[in-house]
Amino acid sequence: MSDSDPAPSLYAPREPIFPRRVSGLFRTLKWYILAGTLGIYYITPWLRWDRGPALPDQAVLLDLANRRFYFFWIEIWPHEFYFVAGLLIMAGLGLFLFTSALGRVWCGYACPQTVWTDLFILVERWIEGDRNARLRLHRQTTMDFRKARLRITKWVSWLLIGLATGGAWVFYFADAPTLLQDLIAGNAHPVAYTTMAILTGTTFLFGGFAREQICIYACPWPRIQAAMVDEDTLTVGYREWRGEPRGKTRQTDEPGLVHGDCIDCMACANVCPMGIDIRDGQQLECITCALCIDACDDVMERLGKPRGLIDYMALSDEMNERSGQPPKNIWRHVLRPRTTMYTVLWGGVGLALLFALFIRSDIELTVAPVRNPTFVTLSDGAIRNTYDVRLRNKTGEPRLFELSIKGGRDMELNLEGVDGTIVTVPADTSFLQRVYISAPKSAATAAARSTPVRIWVADIGNGERAHKDTSFNGRGSDK
Ligand code: SF4
Ligand code: SF4
Repeated sequence: MSDSDPAPSLYAPREPIFPRRVSGLFRTLKWYILAGTLGIYYITPWLRWDRGPALPDQAVLLDLANRRFYFFWIEIWPHEFYFVAGLLIMAGLGLFLFTSALGRVWCGYACPQTVWTDLFILVERWIEGDRNARLRLHRQTTMDFRKARLRITKWVSWLLIGLATGGAWVFYFADAPTLLQDLIAGNAHPVAYTTMAILTGTTFLFGGFAREQICIYACPWPRIQAAMVDEDTLTVGYREWRGEPRGKTRQTDEPGLVHGDCIDCMACANVCPMGIDIRDGQQLECITCALCIDACDDVMERLGKPRGLIDYMALSDEMNERSGQPPKNIWRHVLRPRTTMYTVLWGGVGLALLFALFIRSDIELTVAPVRNPTFVTLSDGAIRNTYDVRLRNKTGEPRLFELSIKGGRDMELNLEGVDGTIVTVPADTSFLQRVYISAPKSAATAAARSTPVRIWVADIGNGERAHKDTSFNGRGSDK
């Protein structure tokens, strides 16, 4: 390149992609997954779950105001966030597991960007027609009435889907029927309108216009997944040794050389939502949606040739097939040390979470000793320590909790503002109670620098108990 040549542009404008309609096994599977995932997303906030009069009856609710996460019969409190962390770890391990076994199967089938883009393309096809009609409309430079009508209909449909998407999202954070009424009446919190507006806009732009650009440029997963696949990972590939040299006729220009099975019909490239040609080999853009397999299998069937010119296969199979050996059984690709390790880790975290879920109690307490001062000496010489005890009633009704102590002899327990040792804790509440423990001047605990003490709380109604250990500070000498 000479100095006078203009610098090459670092920007490549997007070439719009108009995937052709395709049918087949993987397309059908993708339709089911699309219907299932979108159905779960849109319907879940409307499911009800009776937890009693004091608690919300929405089955899945992220109650940020009260710092609770409700999932059917499970209620997660802020101090139990490890459950959420555990679920995130499981999601990550599940992603590693599926990627190492089946490549970018998450990207191709279940990623929200893929699912919504698929939905947007479906709507686009209903309104503007299949690939050729959409291409003609795109290349038409004049905006006549028909083009304007089709474009406006499509954009309004996309916007409505975006609005439903943003709307469904905010329903996860408040009682859905009440919030819907408030939204319509204009009484909802501005945060709800802002969130909906942002999600409507991003869904409209990402699903309608950015599409594959998000996967190629914005998402880090294509880069990360490279570390998780190996020569035994099943991914979509082209049997080049069977398809090449490609051509529409049987005989090539070279005498004695016949074309392979690929008739160069471009069906595989025309259905690809990423706009690539799988015959060029593995590419970062490929999300392994397998639509090219459906397209090519259809062509092969019509030609009376075996299916599988494009297929799910591993690099090791490719090498075997090239050398005339049969491919491995699919289970030998799926059940490998790497996938077994991910499965064991995934199951281990899941079992630990289940165990933690089933052993957790409906009552809990935390004890914070007040250490300023560490103790006070009363007028009769007794020593008194102060503690802030936080009592948690995780049930849907008020409970009577009795506090008691086990520690040094002659210790006495008193509750601030309460006669006796029983307090009423409202339903689903964390209740702070100041507690005094005192030991008479003559007691050993008053003289010792520190004496272990156990504070117990018992539910009067059902006898359930919980405790926390702390210490009682004395004078430190017997003066
Ligand atoms: S669909 Fe099959 S036959 Fe047609 S171009 Fe692609 S690989 Fe070749
Ligand atoms: S090349 Fe095939 S599997 Fe890859 S994104 Fe395109 S259609 Fe999907």
